[in-house]
Amino acid sequence: MAGSFGLGISTADDPVDWDALTRYATEVMQRAYAPYSQYKVGVAGLVDDGRVVLGCNVENAAYGVALCAECGMVSALHATGGGRLRAVACVDGQGRPLMPCGRCRQLLWENGGPTMQLLTARGVVTMDQVLPDAFDSSDLDGTHLDDPSASDQENPA
Ligand SMILES: [Zn+2]
Repeated sequence: MAGSFGLGISTADDPVDWDALTRYATEVMQRAYAPYSQYKVGVAGLVDDGRVVLGCNVENAAYGVALCAECGMVSALHATGGGRLRAVACVDGQGRPLMPCGRCRQLLWENGGPTMQLLTARGVVTMDQVLPDAFDSSDLDGTHLDDPSASDQENPA
């Protein structure tokens, strides 16, 4: 299941209610479709307008096409009006914080950027901590070369 709650749990400037976000993630985790691995995952994302979007993992008999929970959540983000992810809690079958896989870190970066907060077993971290030197749209259009910290080797005089 992927969807959103009409009632947000915060506004853009409020502190993130991690307990509420984790409760949402744990609830949607129980709806995961994981008949092969039995490894259920749920995720809840707080959008910058206060919406909460959800996702759970969805497995397939063709194992390789399984969908991570974050895929459903990001689809729900756009299906319910878009916006930017402020904070995300992803949980395992016991409701414990779970790190997104590599592909999903890229998905979260695209939709939340470097400052998006992520709940982990070691506390709240930002996306630039879990996906340093990320590939993004600035790589496609070349604007990453405008970064003054970038090496001069890319633009020899
Ligand atoms: Zn993933």
